[in-house]
Amino acid sequence: MLELTPRDEVCTRKALRINPAKTCQPVGALYAALGVHGCMPHSHGSQGCASFHRMFLTRHFKEPAMASTSAFTEGASVFGGGANLTQACRNLFDTYDPEVIAVHTTCLSETIGDDLNAIVSAMDIPEGKHVVYCNTPSYVGSHITGYANMLAGFVRNLSDKPLVGGADGSGDSMSMDLGGQASSADRLKSRTGKKLALFAGFINPGDMREIKRIAEEFDIDYTLLPDTSGVMDAPMTGTYQLYPAGGTPVAAIQALGSAKLGLALGETAAGPGAVALSNKCGVPEKLLPLPMGVRLTDEYLMALSEFASDDVPQCLEEERGQLVDILVDAHPYLDGKTAAIFGDPDTIYGLSSAVLEMGMLPRYVLTTSPFPAITKKLMELFEEYGVADKCLVKDSADLFELHQLVIQDPVDVLIGTSFGKLIARAENIALVRAGFPIIDRYVHSYMPLVGYRGGMRLVEMIAGALMDSLDRNCAEEDFEMVM
Ligand code: SF4
Repeated sequence: MLELTPRDEVCTRKALRINPAKTCQPVGALYAALGVHGCMPHSHGSQGCASFHRMFLTRHFKEPAMASTSAFTEGASVFGGGANLTQACRNLFDTYDPEVIAVHTTCLSETIGDDLNAIVSAMDIPEGKHVVYCNTPSYVGSHITGYANMLAGFVRNLSDKPLVGGADGSGDSMSMDLGGQASSADRLKSRTGKKLALFAGFINPGDMREIKRIAEEFDIDYTLLPDTSGVMDAPMTGTYQLYPAGGTPVAAIQALGSAKLGLALGETAAGPGAVALSNKCGVPEKLLPLPMGVRLTDEYLMALSEFASDDVPQCLEEERGQLVDILVDAHPYLDGKTAAIFGDPDTIYGLSSAVLEMGMLPRYVLTTSPFPAITKKLMELFEEYGVADKCLVKDSADLFELHQLVIQDPVDVLIGTSFGKLIARAENIALVRAGFPIIDRYVHSYMPLVGYRGGMRLVEMIAGALMDSLDRNCAEEDFEMVM
């Protein structure tokens, strides 16, 4: 299949992307909406779009990804889909009784120029029900942009501003007055609310469970948005539940305006949610990378420790020590090995940091999403480790380019999504599956890659892949039973 990849040079291209390993904005918006309890995600476009978005998520999570559609036909495509959307919401509330409908646009409705704000404002929404919306034009950005837009959409549409004067016992007039002018630190001091608004990046339900577990070890009162645990990893009970038990409650999103701090884990995917909360309700925001590996998990724990004004719980100290011990144990098989890392921006940053801690070199780091800021951040990280001149970082890249790079200067292991298996097979390089989508394996979405426990799993997967390669390829006299 990849026989057309040039083997003698790396071709430069500007206009064409081949095997881009990213998908369209509504896929991210749909996933974010599934992380809200009682929510029906709604695709404002043609039926084919909705089918594709649902299929893409189902292939990764091995769970049904529910969504409805405005079902555009020729008429809506020419005259606009306002009537379709209004009728669809009426039918959904009548038939499926969701608490909230989360509408995202598609290429078609964006090209027509449907004004969601005007359409939703004119709707007759039943008492106690909600319709939230965001724009997800798929000809820009990627599924990460769509995910971020939907998070911001939930906040803009649902989160209530705190009552002026602190009458609700949480927000206060000072925080409102200071919004947009004072520093985050000043605004944090001025807030009397106790709750932590946690925004999750584009991660698996298993990761979300781990992020919550760590916050709970600190005994912190938090709301996680979105929370796909209990939805996209719901247990088999024998009874189909249209709205599984998991997901962030709508009431909790409404109350986010009174939070003390908005903490985003994953700057590109989760950051816009925290920024929207800051803009609307004056809640100070703090943006952190996904907590992968030792150092980035430390950052998450330090933020929680500062928020709770408490020490790090002993059990988490122990987990950190275990991860460091494992890193030392596996060091002989990891040190100096090279990796090609590809996937979503927040994920490749977290993976690169973890791989550097293992003593490995992230030789190529590519995201197929258009986020130039991440390349700058990655180069800063590599400069800190003194390896910047040995690493190539690119955004808006594709796997056709990565294949050519790997042919010219091979690496020991590929770390990324299932799309990398073509390169892995063609060049006989081990592939460690991490990120989205993984459509050719099971269980991955249940097992965290974040936190110290996630770090242990990363070492297990990466060291295991390298040691398997060694077993397969070493000379007879070097073959070892005990490693
Ligand atoms: S038409 Fe646009 S929104 Fe629909 S599936 Fe294709 S890229 Fe996504």
